[in-house]
Amino acid sequence: MAVPLKIFFVSPEISPFAKTGGLADIASALPKEIKNAGHDIRLFMPQYTVVNDRKFVLREVIRLKKLDIPFGDTRIHVNIKSSFLPDTKIQVYFLDYPPYFNREEFYVDPKTNRDYADNAERFALFCRSAIETLKRLHWHPDVIHCNDWQTGFIPVFLKTLYKDDDSFKNTKTLFTIHNLAYQGIFPVSKLKMTGLPDTLFTIGNSLEYYGKVSFLKAGIEYADLINTVSPTYNQEIQNDKELGFGFQDILKRRSKSLYGILNGVDYSEWSPEVDQWIPGKYDSKSLTNKIVDKQQLLGFCNLPYDENVPCIGLISRLVDQKGLDLIVKKFDQIMEPGVQFIILGKGEEKYQEFFTAAAQKYPQQFAAFFRFDNRLAHLIEAGCDMFLMPSKFEPCGLNQLYSLRYGTIPIVRKTGGLADTVVDFSTDEQKGTGFVFEKYDADDFLTTLKLAVHTFGDKKKWKGMIRRGMKQDFSWKASSREYIKLYTKLNKEK
Ligand code: ADP
Repeated sequence: MAVPLKIFFVSPEISPFAKTGGLADIASALPKEIKNAGHDIRLFMPQYTVVNDRKFVLREVIRLKKLDIPFGDTRIHVNIKSSFLPDTKIQVYFLDYPPYFNREEFYVDPKTNRDYADNAERFALFCRSAIETLKRLHWHPDVIHCNDWQTGFIPVFLKTLYKDDDSFKNTKTLFTIHNLAYQGIFPVSKLKMTGLPDTLFTIGNSLEYYGKVSFLKAGIEYADLINTVSPTYNQEIQNDKELGFGFQDILKRRSKSLYGILNGVDYSEWSPEVDQWIPGKYDSKSLTNKIVDKQQLLGFCNLPYDENVPCIGLISRLVDQKGLDLIVKKFDQIMEPGVQFIILGKGEEKYQEFFTAAAQKYPQQFAAFFRFDNRLAHLIEAGCDMFLMPSKFEPCGLNQLYSLRYGTIPIVRKTGGLADTVVDFSTDEQKGTGFVFEKYDADDFLTTLKLAVHTFGDKKKWKGMIRRGMKQDFSWKASSREYIKLYTKLNKEK
């Protein structure tokens, strides 16, 4: 191995401590690979309410107690606790500041269903605390790997407030965009406490975004290198006006420093041979136990079992991005051939209302659960025959990768990471691993879904497709090498 690198990986969520979506999975799986490759990697995240001291064995760190963070006209005292990623020697530091993080939900106020009013202050403090933690530890990483808008001010602080600080003279930053749609936009007045010069926020300057401040823009402008989570999404955000979400020009300007690296899967957690949450373990050589999982799933959902009736699964944040309006538009037609359909998701009220009514209308065919439930997510992956992801856009998507491994045929729209990972059966029956439709259009979606349901009747073709999908390798091995290449590149630029 080349020289071991020191990486500080900062993320607003890390599995199993706190998770709302794919980022949490990535923030634990990628560091494990980096560590396995011989590098020194440490993690940093907020201590939300769910990060229970006892459950996750968090310890006070004497030298990280009462860290003094400059904050506007005052100073804030925070504590940093530590623990390990389960079953590893990877150290995780937690920012303990109860007024900001002792909350059930991480970003959205459950009382109003809107973002917390103090998100700017919360995550500016998070960024500043990450840097101050390193100072107090006297640990000088080669790279700080920042993830999503919540970490966007780390590169800014390093290049401004800390630019003459010897502790960071050899530290570079990588900023990963997991979803360009979340931009951390706030009024300029909210960022006064950062202590940054006012001029940075004025029109035309680096932190200004249409008269406001965007944490995402801050990260993109100031990080030494940037990446996103699939090659296709990397192209889409630079070239497709809709998917660029107003950032196209900024991204194009930084195009030479912008990479697309596909996410991977932690197969020690998401694989039917070893999955601790499913009753029937199976692999590509013997699928018999997949039936056990299907029976268990349907029993749990109060739906009748019939091996000839295909069961379709969907696990998702219930937001417009995920293409749920296509499902809503065609719901009755989807149900028409007698399929079964199970949804697990949390999110917008309009979808919850629709799916609640649909469950009453189709009690033998449809079930919906509106909560975050990791165990049920695993059982759905194992017990269903097909998995739906008709996303409007999808930076990478993890569930189609899990589905491939569980022999649960993905039906996806050709966008972002979905386009990079699922091969359309109707275009190539020899290589196909799922069903892919191109246009974001309800009729195209329905036609493709119906084709999948029809193909399910052809057991030989279906099993062949299952086996091909299960043999695909989307482990972190290849992708972590790409990240190490970026870290190494940054290290050489020092
Ligand atoms: P995104 O990051 O946009 O939410 P991904 O497909 O990349 O989408 O990752 C979603 C992850 O979150 C998957 O691991 C999925 O199983 C999980 N997930 C989403 N909603 C739920 C839920 N309600 N219960 C359990 N797991 C969920």
